[in-house]
Amino acid sequence: PSQRKKRPDWLRVKLPAGPDFLRVRQLVDTYKLHTICESGSCPNMGECWGAGTATFMILGNVCTRSCSFCAVATGRPPEYDTEEPQRVAEAIRLMGVKHAVITSVNRDELKDRGAEIWYQTVRQVKEQSPSTTIETLIPDVKNNWDALFRMIEGGQEVVSHNIETVERLYRGVRPQAKYERSLEQIRRTKEARQRTKSGIMLGLGETKDEMFKAMDDMVAHGLDILTLGQYLQPTKMHHEVIEWITPEMFDMYREEGLRRGLKYVESGPLVRSSYHAERHVNVPI
Ligand code: SF4
Ligand code: SF4
Repeated sequence: PSQRKKRPDWLRVKLPAGPDFLRVRQLVDTYKLHTICESGSCPNMGECWGAGTATFMILGNVCTRSCSFCAVATGRPPEYDTEEPQRVAEAIRLMGVKHAVITSVNRDELKDRGAEIWYQTVRQVKEQSPSTTIETLIPDVKNNWDALFRMIEGGQEVVSHNIETVERLYRGVRPQAKYERSLEQIRRTKEARQRTKSGIMLGLGETKDEMFKAMDDMVAHGLDILTLGQYLQPTKMHHEVIEWITPEMFDMYREEGLRRGLKYVESGPLVRSSYHAERHVNVPI
């Protein structure tokens, strides 16, 4: 087992440093923002922040859910902050971000699931930085399709919703979510004529056939873009890494995804849903 836990060489990354990294650090602190880069202990912080980009997490940093892979705190979130859209937009303008990725915690206790804050954030970013493109990585709206439509009508270029893992593993990995419901969310997003994107973390015990099935399901529900990356365990309290997927396997999955009808597949050990996200805005709808 100790062999299994050791991180392979291909997952070693550069430590954060440099002037751009510090500039992002300062803006995130000054504007009291949350990033999934930090909350998720992302291994790419050196690269992304060093290039002046980050993924902002809105609607606070306490989530109503408890996915077993995720380092974001679970609990009852405080009142949300109606000035957050403004602050996020200002930080993005000051950072000169060309492509902004925004995500949020789940706010199942809110009737609108946080949709209005989502909409306002996208609008504010577009107003303050008209040439900045936006990807919104939105939560499971839990069948509140009005909330979904509000979240996606602000003019963002890409709408992401992560499936995260294969159907069989949902109970242990995403206990408050449903595989079918997330697929339906993708289908409805596509029906609203959006560019759709999703992501899966590998190494949680999924089999190849289960992965192929998930890809087929996503294609059947109108998915355009898929990201595949290695799951890393944020702390000992989180889901174990069951397998280290080799770079060759990630290449195989990319080829399979394209063969099965996806328009773009980003696949590699360090790929996260926001990694190289600027490449996805040109994928045809
Ligand atoms: Fe942040 Fe995404 Fe880059 Fe990770 S890959 S550092 S989460 S922007
Ligand atoms: Fe983390 Fe999102 Fe799950 Fe909340 S819903 S625990 S933020 S992955």
